[in-house]
Amino acid sequence: MATVDRGVWQRIIEKVISSGGNLIRPWFTKLEPLSLEHGLLEIQVPGADEKKYCQSHVSRLFTEAAQEATGRLVGVCFLTSSDESGTYESTSIPAQIYEPEKSTFQLSDEYSFDTFVTGPCNRLAHAASVAVSDGPGQTYNPLFLHGSVGLGKTHLLQAVCGKVFASKPDVSVCLLSCETFVNHFIQSVEQGKLHSFRYQYRHADILAIDDIQFLADHEQTQEEFFHTFNTLYQDHKQIILSSDRSPAEMKNLEERLISRFNWGLVVRIDRPCYETRVAIVHKKARLRSISLPDDVACFIAGQVDSNTRELEGAIAKTAMLAQVLGKNIDLAVAEQAIGTTSANHRREVTIEDILKVVTIRFNVRLSDLQSKKRSRSIAFPRQVCMYLARSMTRHSLEEIGGYFGGRDHTTVLHANRTIESLKGSDSEFQVTLDSISHEINSSV
Ligand code: ADP
Ligand code: MG
Repeated sequence: MATVDRGVWQRIIEKVISSGGNLIRPWFTKLEPLSLEHGLLEIQVPGADEKKYCQSHVSRLFTEAAQEATGRLVGVCFLTSSDESGTYESTSIPAQIYEPEKSTFQLSDEYSFDTFVTGPCNRLAHAASVAVSDGPGQTYNPLFLHGSVGLGKTHLLQAVCGKVFASKPDVSVCLLSCETFVNHFIQSVEQGKLHSFRYQYRHADILAIDDIQFLADHEQTQEEFFHTFNTLYQDHKQIILSSDRSPAEMKNLEERLISRFNWGLVVRIDRPCYETRVAIVHKKARLRSISLPDDVACFIAGQVDSNTRELEGAIAKTAMLAQVLGKNIDLAVAEQAIGTTSANHRREVTIEDILKVVTIRFNVRLSDLQSKKRSRSIAFPRQVCMYLARSMTRHSLEEIGGYFGGRDHTTVLHANRTIESLKGSDSEFQVTLDSISHEINSSV
């Protein structure tokens, strides 16, 4: 079989790193080029789930990278080692956990309490989760964790269920995404199997549903979930829910459900601060046996401050680049790997850059944004500015609040959450916001 030229593979990976953005996954370091012949590049992936991911999400990315690196028309195909040997190989990343018939589940070792880094942003969520895993149904019921994407909600849900399951294997633990719950319900209705659906969920000792906000647009499932909730609650069975927004922010959800979500403990997870990000980077690198010098960990944590998933992407990019270059990871490699995407600018974004764009877009004056005025036509663009300042600059909440008319940090937090939730519910607004960020980025 024709092996792939090292230089070609290196150029492909460099291109993938520079244009792959959030599509890059930590296990990309395990991709192996198998052959490049007759216009087809075969890449080996670690397992079936990874293969599925590659086929559906990054096929085009790799195809374009391969074409650019070779200057030829190349197709890309992803294979697992079992595709070659013909035997089935289970993968290290289990799918979401729930098998309706057996009520058993598989948990990822990676999503445990041991691998979860705590900091001011998530300490309460972590402590509550540990308490729940020590005494399901006895402390906080329900436990409701909320926070934006990539901040560790699924990780904590899995950690709780994994710990309970490890210590008491006879406990019936049901951990699933809300989407699975909804689909299972719809399917059960269609197939006349509502009875077994109900039996299953109402007899769980722990019911953990991830991304419960998904219930919002499914009225019938809400009704069903309401009764499931009541049965479990009355039986002192543990309910754990995660969501990308707080109960109060959940639109299109019945009031009686929202009030139940507040019966136990509602905890928010915030974005990790710099120190926590450094600790997470070290932990993730160790987990993947990547040796990462301190200065590189600090550099990554300083560059990527949105969420933990993106931190992982940055580690992966750095490790991939070092691998194809045949070098140890150092600051220069990390700068090259990450610099191509997140910090592709000559300088950092400042609040002034943000203001310049926002004042024009919303047709407001800077002095109004910095004033005490609270009319919506002023308050809304101000919130947008605070949100952008939070996500695009390194200023603290206090600094940002101070800049906008001496407001305190809770105002900035509130603005951040308002804009984030609007972004989640209003796709038109999301497009506007994206284009504003884009304009700001291209102005520096
Ligand atoms: P969410 O469900 O909130 O969108 P996830 O739980 O899927 O986020 O987390 C995204 C990634 O970030 C996962 O790989 C997870 O392990 C990691 N992660 C998030 N928070 C932490 C943390 N505090 N410590 C370690 N890893 C974290
Ligand atoms: Mg999640």
